Amino acid sequence: MFETLSGKLSGVFDGLAKRGALSEADVAEAMREVRLAMLDADVALPVVKDFVAKVRERAVGHEVLGSISPGQAVAKIVNDALIDALGGAGAVPLNLNAVPPVPILMVGLQGSGKTTTSGKIALRLATRERKRVLLASLDTQRPAAQLQLQQLAERAGVASLPIVPGQTPVEIARRAMDTGRREGYDVVILDTAGRLSIDEALMDEVRAIRTETTPAETLLVVDAMTGQDAVNTARAFNEAVGVTGVVMTRMDGDARGGAALSMRAMTGAPIKLTGSGEKLDALEEFHPERVAGRILGLGDIAGLVEKAADTLDHEESEKLALKMMKGQFDLDDYAAQIRQIAKMGSLSGILDMLPGMGKIKQAMGDKDLDTSVLKRHQAIISSMTRAERKTPAIIKASRKKRIAAGSGTSVQDVNRLLKQFDDMSTMMKRINKLGMKGLMRQGMS
Ligand code: GDP
Repeated sequence: MFETLSGKLSGVFDGLAKRGALSEADVAEAMREVRLAMLDADVALPVVKDFVAKVRERAVGHEVLGSISPGQAVAKIVNDALIDALGGAGAVPLNLNAVPPVPILMVGLQGSGKTTTSGKIALRLATRERKRVLLASLDTQRPAAQLQLQQLAERAGVASLPIVPGQTPVEIARRAMDTGRREGYDVVILDTAGRLSIDEALMDEVRAIRTETTPAETLLVVDAMTGQDAVNTARAFNEAVGVTGVVMTRMDGDARGGAALSMRAMTGAPIKLTGSGEKLDALEEFHPERVAGRILGLGDIAGLVEKAADTLDHEESEKLALKMMKGQFDLDDYAAQIRQIAKMGSLSGILDMLPGMGKIKQAMGDKDLDTSVLKRHQAIISSMTRAERKTPAIIKASRKKRIAAGSGTSVQDVNRLLKQFDDMSTMMKRINKLGMKGLMRQGMS
């Protein structure tokens, strides 16, 4: 996500950082590069113009000229301007303030990820907010659509409205709300039909459903990979039916990020959630300040901690942490840790959230970032005896050969794992000395 922009911007700031005090011409040149970087990332032209003008004004008017670290000063100004463009600080939460069952209307073009997103939101509300959610498909256009939603609901562990053939979308919406009231649901998610392109019939249908149900949220689902088309779609929907929030899907495949950066300014509608994968838990809140941090390579520690808190087994994590603190961490614990990391999803996604990792990732190329390394380590550890796992120091040449043969790897692979384990142990000793707070400070500076 945002690799294009992130790479280019860090180049601009690196250039500035090498200089002493900046002249107005230096700032102008840097702004020209920022402008090109944003256009390359497919950000809408009016947004780019506005952005660059704001940054230039603040940079020239403030202490940047003549400042001791002008690169940092400009980066701070760009960071603030990015946050503004992305919609201001803080996520905009879903509005569920209505008499239950609260209707949420899902709209968008076909293939945008609307149905999948309906399932993701249902899962999120059910698990995080303990809401009783009813999913209903109003899509009478595609024959399999209602069935698809029913299957998604099963996967998410939430209820779906029984399918009654022959009903119109408005009739289904009414039945969904009636069922919601009668059976005490907190939220009813209404997944409308999509079309391949925007047409009046689609908008009329959405308007009729909205009149019938008065939704608390009308969420537009758009595909980030369609770039400015996503922004145009959002404008059209917003003008025709009114949109209270945008969910941007396929952020996982979008390296440019132009749609995310243009959406708020071009449509006025806030991005509330983003989708980053096909799995039902691949849905994130949209925090402009964290996204800006990622774009500038500052990482998203808050996001990473949240993700970890959501996916990791707390008891196991605490046990591991305690062992680390006591210096008793062994290879069995390392294997447990690998299992936990694997649960958090792609390594590449995790690295994106760490400060400065963007550059390292680019240098490594994506090939080294798949989870096969972790799988190999797991295989190697399971070929060890209990004693070897407890006291890795006893693993000498002949044991290494046996372990490599047993796990279908090479002695070099075993060596690499042992070296990594050694590095980890050293790191943990350092953490113990510094205390966690000290380390965070060290990492952030
Ligand atoms: P709809 O026609 O708008 O209802 O679209 P679907 O929900 O059927 O999604 C179309 C395809 O996009 C499916 O294969 C989904 O798994 C996939 N998809 C949805 N959201 C995401 C996402 O955030 N990332 C990725 N990579 N795929 C997604």
